[in-house]
Amino acid sequence: MHLAHIEKTSLGFFPTPLVELSKLSQFLGGPKIFMKRDDLTGLALGGNKTRKLEYIMADALRQGCDTVITAGAAQSNHCRQTAAAAAMLNLECHLLLGGEAPNKAQGNLLLDQMFACHIHWTGANRKGEDIPRIFEQLKAKGKKPYLVPYGGSNELGAISFIDAVAELEHQKKGREFSHVVFASSSGGTHAGLILGKQIYNKTFELVGINIDKDTNIELPFEQLVTQLVNASAKTIGLDYTFSQEQLILNSDYVGGGYGIVGPQENEAIALTAKFEGILLDPVYTGRAMSGLIHLIRSGKITKNDEVLFWHTGGAPSLFAYADDLDFSQPDSVN
Ligand SMILES: *Cc1c(COP(=O)(O)O)cnc(C)c1O
Repeated sequence: MHLAHIEKTSLGFFPTPLVELSKLSQFLGGPKIFMKRDDLTGLALGGNKTRKLEYIMADALRQGCDTVITAGAAQSNHCRQTAAAAAMLNLECHLLLGGEAPNKAQGNLLLDQMFACHIHWTGANRKGEDIPRIFEQLKAKGKKPYLVPYGGSNELGAISFIDAVAELEHQKKGREFSHVVFASSSGGTHAGLILGKQIYNKTFELVGINIDKDTNIELPFEQLVTQLVNASAKTIGLDYTFSQEQLILNSDYVGGGYGIVGPQENEAIALTAKFEGILLDPVYTGRAMSGLIHLIRSGKITKNDEVLFWHTGGAPSLFAYADDLDFSQPDSVN
């Protein structure tokens, strides 16, 4: 509808499956739980960034850029999917990764290297602080660089999640979810789901589970998401104003902070694997699922609800976190 005039380039396989997690639900004595499998978007082991990149990369191509540049943590799923998309589209790719080069590449970093992108280590700066410097360097070398925003979270990235809600509408066979629970970090997924909910007139409560308690972004996160919702509405010509009070961001599960795996994430990953044969990741979906499990155990989500958990991907980083995870006692989750 509103989106028809905005170009995208195909990078993945859609629709992603919608499945029911009946054994996990039974174990928890909780509501019906469904899962939207955006871990299966198909671009180099998948994830939610594939949706965003379909719009963002189309914009890069339209502008005639020959190089893309983006930033993230060393195990960034966004960077891995950007590197893969760049390889598909024959663009040079520069990744600015936080931290120092490890002795041995694992998980997403190993995959980044496979896509032959240029990696710049940026120490404490994992949110793109050094992008302007590298951007100018590339221009001075005669390149035409395109800046892919941190986490793919600009208006183009966000509107891809309007498509995702439309996709869900076709799959859910009349079912109305009471809650949609997902990992929220750079805000694009959150903003797009808010707009999709508005456009398709949905009643579900959108529960973003905050992944990152870092505050070194320019704006408080709630304000950033709100601004992104309203800017994205403008991009698609939608007459809608979202106010910050409507935003649900649950910060009860940030634990030790970004990428610090605790027993809650470990348990959520173990339960989802054991009962459903589905892989969650240690940084995002493991934390979001641990939030959902706690909301069920504490009675905030009840047996009469019907929940959708949006699986946003990330499993490639499991291997990089092997030292922080422990599944050696299969019955310890019972
Ligand atoms: C990036 C990412 C998220 C968060 O999505 P945002 O749009 O950045 O908020 C959640 N899960 C995984 C696996 C991700 O890679």
